[in-house]
Amino acid sequence: MTTTTMVTSSSPRVVGNKVPSVVCRARRSSSGENRTMMMPLKKKMSARDDEKRRNERSTFGGVRVAAARRRSSGGSSNDDDENNIINGATTTRDELLEEIEKVKAENAKLKTLQMQLEDVSLSSSLSSSLSSSSSSKSTTRTTIKTTKKAAVGALRTDPKSESEIEWPLPITAEGCPVGEEDKKPFWETRPKNDPDELFEGKTATEKTNRPKKIAHVTAELAPLAKVGGLGDVTQGLGRAMQMQGHNVEIILPYYQSLDANEIFDLKHVMDFDVPKGTKWDGENVVSMMKTSAYSGNIGGCDVILLKPHEETNSNIFKGGAIYGGSYNELEAYLYFSRASLEFLDKSGRDPDVIHVHEWQTCAVPMLYWEEYHGKTSLNKAKIVMTIHNLDNTGECREEEFFATGVNGAKFNVIEKALDERTIGHNPERMCLMKGGVVYSNKVTTVSPTYAKETLDGNGGFMSKILKANQEKFSGILNGIDYDLWNPALDATLPANFAPGNKMTENKKLCKKYLQIGLGLDADETKPLIVCISRLVPQKGIHLIERAVTQSENNGNQFVLLGSGHSDGGFKRMANEEFSKTNSSNVRLMITYSDALSRLMYAAADFVLVPSMFEPCGLTQMIAMRYGALPIVRSTGGLADTVIDCDADQENGNGFVFYGADDQSLDECIQRANKTFQDRKKFHELQERVARVDYGWEASGNVYAELYESL
Ligand code: ADP
Repeated sequence: MTTTTMVTSSSPRVVGNKVPSVVCRARRSSSGENRTMMMPLKKKMSARDDEKRRNERSTFGGVRVAAARRRSSGGSSNDDDENNIINGATTTRDELLEEIEKVKAENAKLKTLQMQLEDVSLSSSLSSSLSSSSSSKSTTRTTIKTTKKAAVGALRTDPKSESEIEWPLPITAEGCPVGEEDKKPFWETRPKNDPDELFEGKTATEKTNRPKKIAHVTAELAPLAKVGGLGDVTQGLGRAMQMQGHNVEIILPYYQSLDANEIFDLKHVMDFDVPKGTKWDGENVVSMMKTSAYSGNIGGCDVILLKPHEETNSNIFKGGAIYGGSYNELEAYLYFSRASLEFLDKSGRDPDVIHVHEWQTCAVPMLYWEEYHGKTSLNKAKIVMTIHNLDNTGECREEEFFATGVNGAKFNVIEKALDERTIGHNPERMCLMKGGVVYSNKVTTVSPTYAKETLDGNGGFMSKILKANQEKFSGILNGIDYDLWNPALDATLPANFAPGNKMTENKKLCKKYLQIGLGLDADETKPLIVCISRLVPQKGIHLIERAVTQSENNGNQFVLLGSGHSDGGFKRMANEEFSKTNSSNVRLMITYSDALSRLMYAAADFVLVPSMFEPCGLTQMIAMRYGALPIVRSTGGLADTVIDCDADQENGNGFVFYGADDQSLDECIQRANKTFQDRKKFHELQERVARVDYGWEASGNVYAELYESL
């Protein structure tokens, strides 16, 4: 009987306060030796605008001050009005209504002041209790531990007062403040982190004594070539392995949409021929496509970027976006898979491990074992394949596979890549992901629960294939790169924070910054829920819609950042009932922006992830790192990483619901809101979640063991 290896790293881990011992930044060269290098300084962001803007900003502030003054200095006449009403002298309906509105506004102000007072006293008591607990024993239980030291290093930006912050002007429906339509929206004008700065001094502290050469082949790599979690994971895992002393290179398409200025050390490495099949007059013809390889560094990872040499003769990887450019994706990734193997062979890389990701690179293991192993310089490599999502498995007809220069017929059989569901169809088709599973030495997916769910039949057709290959299949929880996602140093934020260090105060400033910039009520007493997501059915579109439409009834604010093929309904809502003029509590941003996502994580009280299925999910982990509590539907990796605060008072790190119906979501949000009102508890929870460790170190160790076992 076969057994499934479930490599579980599901327990939330705790961020240690490890200070890297090496101070200079060493980078592994492609030849394998370590060298220390000065990186070119990136272009500085141009200083944010001029006198005119500053004047406008002070006018903007001035209006608020004047209004406040008017409210407080109108003393005598307001008092008279009040007395008249109390004495029954003023009885008109309009005046009463006006007075009611006034009292309501004052009540809201009172509530804000009370919350502020609570927060001020709380944050001082919280930091003193946290620092005094640093020497006492940690509250370790089975799942959550707290860090030994409360304080972390210095914050990048720590405004002494609100007036030190350059508050944005509110966006209009079109995105830019009135009069500034020619400029970028406020989140795109924020400075960006220089990855070098983030990673400075961070090299392997304890190097493995069995360093391996690992070549990743992937369609995405954060932060530059990222659409979703795939990019985050290849970057985070790649860097984690590098930190252990392995020699890691990541092979990536050189998309036309990548900004060369954002790639460090970009250099042309070599040109080489890649066999490419085409149909010519009804005949299959293999010709050579000259391909160029460049080296560089993205997100702290050494990369090899591949693209056709003759840019005029090919559309491959062209267009303004990573996917959906002006090229045929299937053809492009089949060519890329073949080109990656050719590069590894012709450059003499001789890797120990080739790690491929998703359907786009599944032709690599297929071609490796049939065409390269034992026939080229590539003899010792073993293949690991990671499934990030079974939503897209790479359907491919036999003649389409010929783009690799290899006839697909040899793979289009039941024991290799034939998709059994197409048997009897004309034509019968292949499933690249099945081919990847069959031809890889080890197959992983991105959380233990998703691995179990797929084996239990929730992976559609692939469940059967994975079950048949169960002995080489395991679930390893993803992490996030704690240097790339670091609210203490994130340059995008107007005020930085860390657990035990200005968490409450500066997070509040980030909330206000986002509220002002997006034209929402700058009201800290309203719980702010954000959702940052690809907008596709997997992500629970109907529940996101429900949260949007219910937020004002629940007394919440809601900001959505997302795009995808199911975003049509949200676009309509953004222009109609939740337009800038119709709502000061909801903003729907149907776009992609890393900078805005960072501001949102920092500003949020809660991050909603109501997925129907979720292989791992990174947004809930980033949320915690930025001191926001996730509200999630229990599935896949969400079930592995979020513990309900009400169900487990000691270890809870978010709010969890189970059903896929409106009521389940509503009840969960109500529970979250209730906790938000209890300021002490809420701030303690923010501190707690920001200390949970979902960095790559632990999962990196599991991958290292996996590589070792090959
Ligand atoms: P998936 O890979 O299914 O998209 P994950 O939760 O694993 O979901 O990863 C999503 C990643 O993409 C996170 O880093 C999230 O912040 C980011 N992201 C998703 N949508 C957007 C967007 N519209 N703008 C910026 N970042 C986004």
